[in-house]
Amino acid sequence: MSNPALELASEAGEQLARPVPADSPLAIRGLTVSYGEKPAVFSVDATVPARSMTAIIGPNGAGKSTLLKAALGIVPRLSGRVLAFGVPLAQVMHRIAYVPQRASVDWDFPTRVIDVVLMGLYRELGLLGLVRRHHRERALACLERVGMAEFAGRQIGALSGGQQQRVFLARALAQDADLYLLDEPFAGVDAATERAIIDVLKALKAEKRAVVCVHHDLATVTDYFDHVLLINVRRIAEGPVASTFTAENLQKTYGGRLATAHIDQLKLPAA
Ligand code: ADP
Ligand code: MG
Repeated sequence: MSNPALELASEAGEQLARPVPADSPLAIRGLTVSYGEKPAVFSVDATVPARSMTAIIGPNGAGKSTLLKAALGIVPRLSGRVLAFGVPLAQVMHRIAYVPQRASVDWDFPTRVIDVVLMGLYRELGLLGLVRRHHRERALACLERVGMAEFAGRQIGALSGGQQQRVFLARALAQDADLYLLDEPFAGVDAATERAIIDVLKALKAEKRAVVCVHHDLATVTDYFDHVLLINVRRIAEGPVASTFTAENLQKTYGGRLATAHIDQLKLPAA
């Protein structure tokens, strides 16, 4: 009869105290998500600073993808509030672009690269999906930004994983959002694609937009990001990379699963 996850969630609901800065592109308070009895995300707070590059870090199964999906309303939440730009996120979906974790998608029917990017313009295309020349030009310009313009007419299914990832980023760019949420954009891509993607993300930040990435490569965190959220079901730590991405916080996040030697290699400041 009683759902332990629900009880935990209501307990967590008591503490919504952390203030939300009005200019935060994404503020999550007391977010709890459960697929079964045990929460996948438990009472997590996160506050993405304006004009920042934020990394969400944690071991496999820590709830990183779930956190993003629940924030966006793609999976239901047991409790919690999610504000984007100071209002409930659902009211400002048009200002948010999301690039999901790349699954090994089988493209069953032929879809051209340009059409994938045009999907990013769905709001403007309207119900009939009428594509005009200026839409096509914008989609091409987005492909250009990720170095994929020459692939516009190719089938998406025929591209490498890294090339597909660039195309999905181009689709997000077409949305012209103010907040970009990306789930492991660098997973399984080649070095050239990683460079191309990080350059685009840094340019977005320079344009005063906010970028949030679930990120798995601890070695590049200090290079790529300025703000970090460490989670393992619960929030372990959050703050500027310089003061938060410490060996001690990583140990807390990964428990015994991360070898000390690996952490030593990162040459992090002592806590
Ligand atoms: P991460 O992205 O950090 O690797 P996920 O958010 O994908 O973690 O998953 C968190 C936990 O929730 C894991 O234990 C995972 O097995 C479980 N989970 C994720 N998605 C589902 C789902 N659709 N149904 C049931 N369990 C799920
Ligand atoms: Mg994930």
